Amino acid sequence: MKPRIVVVGGGTGGMVAAYEMQEALGATHQIILISDVDYFQFYPSNPWVAVGWRKREDITFPIRPYVERKNIIFYDRAVVGCNAEQNQLTLADGQIISYDYLLIATGAQLDFPAVSGSGPHHGWSESVCTVDHAEHAYGRYQQFLQNPGSLVVGALPGASCFGPAYEYALILARDLKKRGLRDRVHLSFVTSEPYIGHMGLAGVGKSKEILTNKLREEGFDTYVNAAITHIDSEKVYFDEKDSLGKTIRSHAIESRFSMLLPAFRGIPVWTKVPELCNEKGMILVDPYMRSIKYSNIFAVGLTVALPPVEVTPVPTNTPKTGYMIESMVTTIVTNLKNELQKIKAEKVRPTLNAVCIADTGDAGLVFVALPQIKPRRVDWFTEGRWVHLAKVAFEKYFMHKMKSGHSEPLYEYLTFKLLGITRTEKDSENMKKGSSTF
Ligand SMILES: Cc1cc2nc3c(=O)[nH]c(=O)nc-3n(C[C@H](O)[C@H](O)[C@H](O)COP(=O)(O)OP(=O)(O)OC[C@H]3O[C@@H](n4cnc5c(N)ncnc54)[C@H](O)[C@@H]3O)c2cc1C
Repeated sequence: MKPRIVVVGGGTGGMVAAYEMQEALGATHQIILISDVDYFQFYPSNPWVAVGWRKREDITFPIRPYVERKNIIFYDRAVVGCNAEQNQLTLADGQIISYDYLLIATGAQLDFPAVSGSGPHHGWSESVCTVDHAEHAYGRYQQFLQNPGSLVVGALPGASCFGPAYEYALILARDLKKRGLRDRVHLSFVTSEPYIGHMGLAGVGKSKEILTNKLREEGFDTYVNAAITHIDSEKVYFDEKDSLGKTIRSHAIESRFSMLLPAFRGIPVWTKVPELCNEKGMILVDPYMRSIKYSNIFAVGLTVALPPVEVTPVPTNTPKTGYMIESMVTTIVTNLKNELQKIKAEKVRPTLNAVCIADTGDAGLVFVALPQIKPRRVDWFTEGRWVHLAKVAFEKYFMHKMKSGHSEPLYEYLTFKLLGITRTEKDSENMKKGSSTF
């Protein structure tokens, strides 16, 4: 039997990893993909689902036929146990799957329990973090439209993925205008960021100016350094902090519809593996995305422990965007292939560039932060109507890429290279810059 590489998680990181592993090592290794759901979802379109501009079937597809076409074995089961000493996983139906190498790409758990009254199922705030949540948000939004009033969009303490909060806020404003209801809704944006446009990245280019103007133009009241403490059916409660983190004012603002992005935690199954994770359950890796404890375990995506870009009065964390996750995958595959095939080559590291496209209804915002931590070689944030079209094209392109199994087609590689963006860099290049995120 061929040695096995098992990838867990059928999201952005896991799908790309399964395809890249198959291409690089499929001739000598069996590639297995395990995911607790049998479909892939394109997360960046969730804000559109949450206003009814997209339906679930537009942004999801079944994983099995596409990966099996590439000879990847697929299990649609949750991993519920991991014995890292024995190299074994336990699936929800009791099956034991052994591995030679394990790549963890299970994303993150949404930490709604950290703020009372938050979350769509046990609380009063909506989310766009999954397609299920986005559908739920749309249901609640439709009820809200029957009797409009005040609404709040923003992010809870410890959040990292701020882009979709801005995106949803601006899309909602646009949708309300389209429905002729804008003058019946009071809009607020409440965020744990120290200023509008910080985005967990200490700002990118003109993000502060552009996003502040955008929210102002759309008539939002904005609150920063806000530690939301409680949400109920009528109000959002939060403490406004000063630069030292001391409460300067407590607020309770009306909201009959709230979309508040939560902080992330690790997936519980990995927290039981000795010395695999930090206290939040995020996986501890070296600069090559390899577990610092287990040499045959790797991790990519939201599940990886990355430090915040800077300390903020209300905690914020570093966002992990799609391109950054793909760069983590390419790092693992490149180094592992060289190691297994005994190819003498310098090791590579992920560049961890943050690239993001956000829609605002009829226009959009795009940013590139390269690298994430300042000083940056590229620190660019812009807006325009063309970005709306680019986001629509990106949705179609990425879904096609995930179906066809070409993780980095040549035209994508060349386009990014022209912009000075690459997925990986050699160890020596990284050392020369003297910066390491890990
Ligand atoms: C609303 C929204 C908009 C975004 N917009 C952008 C954007 O415009 N550009 C951009 O670059 N990034 C964007 N992002 C960020 C990006 O989409 C995510 O960071 C990325 O999807 C994370 O990839 P991942 O592989 O780490 O996790 P995920 O894509 O979440 O995948 C994790 C997978 O693991 C599975 N899983 C979990 N637990 C288990 C288990 N125990 N056993 C088996 N399987 C399990 C899950 O079901 C899921 O399929 C956005 C994110 C959100 C939420």
